[in-house]
Amino acid sequence: MPYVSGKTMIQEAWNSGYAIGAFTAHNLETIKAVLLAAEEEQSPIMIQIGQKAINEIGMMPLRNAVDSLIQHHQITVPICIHLDHSRKFEQCMEAATRDFQSLMFDGSALPFEDNIRITQAVVEVAHALGLGAEGEIGKIGGTEDDITVDEKDAMITTVEEALDFSERTGVDYLAVSIGTAHGVYKTTPELKFDRLSEIKAAVKKPVVLHGGSGVPDEQVVESIKRGVAKINVDTELRQSFINAVQGHWKENESDYVLADVMNTGIASMKEVVQQKIRLFGSNGKAK
Ligand SMILES: [Zn+2]
Repeated sequence: MPYVSGKTMIQEAWNSGYAIGAFTAHNLETIKAVLLAAEEEQSPIMIQIGQKAINEIGMMPLRNAVDSLIQHHQITVPICIHLDHSRKFEQCMEAATRDFQSLMFDGSALPFEDNIRITQAVVEVAHALGLGAEGEIGKIGGTEDDITVDEKDAMITTVEEALDFSERTGVDYLAVSIGTAHGVYKTTPELKFDRLSEIKAAVKKPVVLHGGSGVPDEQVVESIKRGVAKINVDTELRQSFINAVQGHWKENESDYVLADVMNTGIASMKEVVQQKIRLFGSNGKAK
């Protein structure tokens, strides 16, 4: 299996000035779309398994599906399975013992000291097992899975808290709030580039951009120049999949061949993943 620790994968990207796409998988079809796109682009990628999909399908069925599809499609590029936005220490431990290569504990809704304490415990286990660990400081707005952070509650991460959090937890890569949001943007986002540069200069670690869907390309490229090495993409992938399926059904009202209908979604989503990979500069980096 071509699995690589998130720590190694993100560090390499950061050192070389590109970003790893962390693409959210929801079912067999979306896992297939991500894997085929990565192979075609010869790109290392992360497949994110998030809370909504875990609630609906279960951690192990999804994790095993990645294994099976890698084998079936003879995928050779480096793959990292990442646990996205876990709010439970126990769930992080479950993923750690079930061959995930990267863990995110999200304690951003907790008091600062509690966030540090639990993240630090997750990091310790992750490092003992050779996995990558992500933490989040500052609140990213929008809706992810079943959790909504109101725009007025979203907070831009300060340099001081980023540095304190990073040093005390030992995370390998750090999710910060610099003006992106989860879900669909109501207005075009404007990333706080100065803050990103300040955080990078202080923390000296790869930064993770959440809410990557709908951020204008030139802002994505600028953020990579300023230290972002992991970009989470979910909403745009779901949109492309669902829009393609809807379009197909509009034109072929009596097509009940499920595989054919789903294939339109897979093809559309695969194309978007490939575009993102090229935008992030990770194409051809599989070695
Ligand atoms: Zn996120």
